[in-house]
Amino acid sequence: TMEFSDRIQRVEPSATLAISSLASQLEAEGEDVIDLSVGEPDFPTPGNIVEAGEQAMEDGHTGYPPSKGVPELREAIAEKLQADGLAYEADNVIVTPGAKQALYETVQTLVDDGDEVVLLDPAWVSYEAMVKLAGGDLTRVDLAPHDFQLEPALADLGEAVSDATELLIVNSPSNPTGAVYSDAALEGVRDLAVEHDVTVISDEIYEQITYGVELTSLATLDDMYERTVTINGFSKAYSMTGWRLGYLAAPEELVSQAAKLHSHSVSSATNFVQRAGVEALRDTETEVGEMVEAFHERRDRLVALLKQHDVDVRTPDGAFYLMLPVADDDQQWCEDALEQSHVATVPGSAFGAPGYARISYAADLGRIEEAVERLVDAELL
Ligand code: PLP
Repeated sequence: TMEFSDRIQRVEPSATLAISSLASQLEAEGEDVIDLSVGEPDFPTPGNIVEAGEQAMEDGHTGYPPSKGVPELREAIAEKLQADGLAYEADNVIVTPGAKQALYETVQTLVDDGDEVVLLDPAWVSYEAMVKLAGGDLTRVDLAPHDFQLEPALADLGEAVSDATELLIVNSPSNPTGAVYSDAALEGVRDLAVEHDVTVISDEIYEQITYGVELTSLATLDDMYERTVTINGFSKAYSMTGWRLGYLAAPEELVSQAAKLHSHSVSSATNFVQRAGVEALRDTETEVGEMVEAFHERRDRLVALLKQHDVDVRTPDGAFYLMLPVADDDQQWCEDALEQSHVATVPGSAFGAPGYARISYAADLGRIEEAVERLVDAELL
């Protein structure tokens, strides 16, 4: 028999698996399932990006690219970050197959066995798994009692962060809550990071998807450039989830360490995909604007419908998720919603927020309206 590593056995399979297999089973039985569980935009990749990818293949960009990324893309990413007020140069960037790989490499580069990592709950599911795979210990700060906002939770964060803390992971706009953290909250993070010499991962993958609020990039704050790893990617902003393209940007000392893991594992992101990424950064303002506008309209409609049914929700300021307060047993609620209403959502406990279900409104407006109607009919709302 095979003997599996302690490392891999520390990690649980995804808690959302049960729901998604039940959803596919219902669909296979011919049921009309409204899927509000997915973490991806429901739009096609903009045509000019697809064409750039096709052209790159025809032009023969099908061999190994430089490990850290093709120079044109690293340069374009640096220019984008500079336009956001960040001081990164192309040499500060590693292009990865998805932001997920950038996060994985960063955690592996920073976290040793027994190192303490602080997470803000509810948190995206993979942070915990990445930290456990690296051998780190988690300390969790719960934002649920604070309407998922960080600013009112700074005192709690202050108690969680100590000189023993190696790393703090911040994700704004947040998956799963859609919260966008205020400047005061980020300054609070900065003060703690400086005081206790903590490195901070700022996962900004939903950065372009905000609704009338300004988002400050953490590494633009004084004293943060040298202790921040900025993570971003193409999946959400450009509807490119399956292309697998993302990046980390960090001081060169981190880049040169992470580059070792990068080159010994994935080697690089796909060559022609990176060329399409240049086009995404160069010429997609209109398409991105239209997608964000559609998300905005859906958010407004969803929140209005929920309020109409006396559901107490806070309007999320970014991403395309909303945390719906449900029964104490959120796993059961999600199963009921799926079985009785054929509406798929994700239990909040998967993100460290029991008592909630995560709704993704990256779905057609009419389907969102119908989902609420079905849940009301089944007396689940
Ligand atoms: N970070 C967060 C918060 C996410 O929600 C996701 C995707 O769901 C990712 C990172 C990874 O995105 P990708 O690997 O597709 O770039």
